[in-house]
Amino acid sequence: MAEGLYTKRNDGRKMDEIRPMSAKVGIVPSADGSASFDTGGTKAIAVVRGPRTLHPQHMQNPKTGILRVSYGMMPFSVEDRIRPGPSRRSEEISKVSEWALSSVVDLSEFPNTVVDVFIQIPQADAGTRVAGINAAAMALAHAGIPMTEMISAIGVGKIDKTLVVDLDKYEDSEYHDGEGSTDIPVVITSRSKKVALLQLDGKISIPELKQCIENAKVACEKILKVQTEALKNINGDNENDK
Ligand code: ADP
Repeated sequence: MAEGLYTKRNDGRKMDEIRPMSAKVGIVPSADGSASFDTGGTKAIAVVRGPRTLHPQHMQNPKTGILRVSYGMMPFSVEDRIRPGPSRRSEEISKVSEWALSSVVDLSEFPNTVVDVFIQIPQADAGTRVAGINAAAMALAHAGIPMTEMISAIGVGKIDKTLVVDLDKYEDSEYHDGEGSTDIPVVITSRSKKVALLQLDGKISIPELKQCIENAKVACEKILKVQTEALKNINGDNENDK
């Protein structure tokens, strides 16, 4: 590889290629809704419980139900064991996932209730928050929670001077040549094509960022197809290599 220039991806993918994806709905029969979403070495599962009356009572909203998201990585989801329980990172990811999902969930028919979404990552190779959001959106739809539209999520970004889609762990954290790497998780709504979440970790110019958002929109169309297929085919497998 030319020094400082990222011309060939570690795993041979094209710069705009998503890792092989698969999705499944109805993986936890006792839950109100459940789904899994995998990309490459990253696996996410999401379980939905509710709407249930929210306790303590002083937290209830008489005008609407509330969405509560909890994200966690399993202890052996990465090579080094992760300490179970909340961390600053898991709290942040829970909150941003809650914001993204809240932009399409309408709980006005369920005052004083809570809908809980539990996202767990059994295996991590970067992009866990976006895989978790993809799984959670499917699990909410499976639970019959009213949604104005679906959402799909992808990590896009820049490695040295090259724009890429769906960074893996090597690209996200282990590539330090040239300008290093910039990871941008993006969430796109299915119909209005709005950006429901964008986080930026690194350095990028405004024209490059605009191109990254366009790349995310194209990738999210492909992800939406996988999510929709899985929802049509509840309890079945849905594999896709694009
Ligand atoms: P995301 O998983 O959404 O890309 P980060 O950018 O924070 O979120 O993390 C990138 C990747 O780094 C994770 O997907 C995982 O593979 C790895 N990782 C995160 N936290 C840890 C940790 N505590 N120990 C080892 N690896 C971790």
